[in-house]
Amino acid sequence: MEECALIASQEGVQALRGGAFKPRTSPYEFQGLGKQGLTILSEVAKKYNLLTVSEAMDIKELPYIAECIDIVQIGSRNMQNFSLLKELGNFSNPILLKRGFSATYQELLLAAEYIISAGNPHVLLCERGIRSFETYTRNTLDLNAVPALKELTHLPIFVDPSHGTGRRSLVLPMARAAVAAGADGIMVEMHPHPDLSITDAGQTIDPETFRRLVREVRALRLALEPLEKKSF
Ligand code: PEP
Ligand code: MN
Repeated sequence: MEECALIASQEGVQALRGGAFKPRTSPYEFQGLGKQGLTILSEVAKKYNLLTVSEAMDIKELPYIAECIDIVQIGSRNMQNFSLLKELGNFSNPILLKRGFSATYQELLLAAEYIISAGNPHVLLCERGIRSFETYTRNTLDLNAVPALKELTHLPIFVDPSHGTGRRSLVLPMARAAVAAGADGIMVEMHPHPDLSITDAGQTIDPETFRRLVREVRALRLALEPLEKKSF
């Protein structure tokens, strides 16, 4: 976490994300470090002046997570956990709401409405890939979502090319594509030694690729901005 935070801060990244309460498909896989993980994440982030992001899965964990983490992530599997969404209305932390892997844009927006109408307007949407017939990639990153959601809502839209592809070789090109489509932010999984990562190793990029990704994404954004304002 220390190495990741150092690299992220050197590249001017805003937030450090780490899963402490993890929604694993199998109950026999590593379930995360829980509270201990949140302590590590928040202490390291403070040292490097980064915001923190971590997932909440359960109403009973919410007060603790909201207290020590800046941005609360709601994962794909809980996008329609309506009691959890309603409870988020009682907190002021921004919520990173990930699209369910078979949710329509309308369902994603209505999930956001649950949080907003319960009292918390700070919702960030995140496209993280949907289930399709393709098996080469873990999911199919639906970049239609970016311009489509921009037509439908004022909420910022993030893209997660790590879960969206499941393959580390595809993360950089799809991050570029997300920025070209108008994404407001990118979240990616990086590890100093990706093959040693306990979860999602196959989609986890190394620090060199990460540095390149951040620089390219920033350069693309800067190149596009003046063109977006210009009339042809
Ligand atoms: C994650 O962000 O680590 C995660 C589990 O993502 P998702 O909910 O999109 O599968
Ligand atoms: Mn993951």
